[in-house]
Amino acid sequence: MKDVETPLPGLYIHIPFCATRCTYCDFVSFTDTSLIPAYIRALPREIEAYREIFPSFDTIYLGGGTPSLLAMGQVEAILHGVCRTFVIPADAEITIEVNPADWGLTELSTLRATGVNRLSMGVQSLDDGELAFLGRRHTARQAMDSVDDARSAGFENISIDLIYGLPDQPIEAWERTLVQAVRLEPEHLSCYGLEIKPGTPLGLRCGRSGCNLHTEDEERAFFVKTSEFLQGAGYTHYEISNFARGMGRASRHNRKYWDHTPYLGLGPSAHSFMMASRWWNHGSLSDYLDDLEHGRRPVAGREELTTDQLAMEALFLGLRTTQGIDLDRYHSRYGIDLIKERGPFIEELAGQGLLEIQGGFIRPTLAGMAVSDSLALL
Ligand code: SF4
Repeated sequence: MKDVETPLPGLYIHIPFCATRCTYCDFVSFTDTSLIPAYIRALPREIEAYREIFPSFDTIYLGGGTPSLLAMGQVEAILHGVCRTFVIPADAEITIEVNPADWGLTELSTLRATGVNRLSMGVQSLDDGELAFLGRRHTARQAMDSVDDARSAGFENISIDLIYGLPDQPIEAWERTLVQAVRLEPEHLSCYGLEIKPGTPLGLRCGRSGCNLHTEDEERAFFVKTSEFLQGAGYTHYEISNFARGMGRASRHNRKYWDHTPYLGLGPSAHSFMMASRWWNHGSLSDYLDDLEHGRRPVAGREELTTDQLAMEALFLGLRTTQGIDLDRYHSRYGIDLIKERGPFIEELAGQGLLEIQGGFIRPTLAGMAVSDSLALL
């Protein structure tokens, strides 16, 4: 793979603790919050272990898990450790995920003063019945108050996460949540279709007694409704699940994952990527802590990707974005002339209204994004 131009990497820090487990979740997180202090003491060792490899980051993202379970002093300690070890430009995007049940105006004001300039709020729904079904700890009122508090604390870049397609959820109920969400005037929204994962409480419940799941056509209808509604409200639909009030408000951090910009992930189960290498940490907190205790990076596995694998990934990820794939850049980076090598198939998908070829880019249409997995067969 040729290095066309390498933007600064992104830093992800996983906070693997949750007060309770949501019914649909299969992320790595632990409910024994008494382990948080030990984790906060260990993290600086992992930060230090990458000082020479990643000298600078222009995005930092504290995700989870539930970072808002941390005390303000713990967040500050993490950020100070990062800023002492790496060069962080003044205009870096620094995001933290917040559960609306946790921090109030006082904490959010302190957070803003530490330099955090973007919040990602796990709102998920603005219907109390749906929130209870999902096992969330907050109510719709708390979510709305939390956004108000964040504004009062001085946050000018707020993203909210929402989930649609719950079993039995009528599309009108989803539209009501969208209407209320837009009234909060977030700069960014991430809207995900609910996935029922095996082994989760929801997966087990649906397996035992059955759930009224949506058909593929209904799922597409939710997706199209989301895009049309939010575009009508002035948001740019820039990636399958992501909407921003202009591209200046698109997540700078997440965009790195989609275009093979290097990133470092710290904490249990976090993944990292650089050049053609991908590696990931232990999911077990005790293995993670034990490695750091003994002076080892807590890496559980690593893979080297071939240029063909990277090219496939770039295709899959690029066709999830409305910017699409820059054909010249793709050619110079992966040595593949897509039009020459996949021309007939691209034409066929364009004929079906799933892709557009324009101005040196291949872009998915809205109908194409709704069936993005089929586009990946390109
Ligand atoms: S708060 Fe997030 S990470 Fe924690 S259980 Fe719920 S969905 Fe999973």
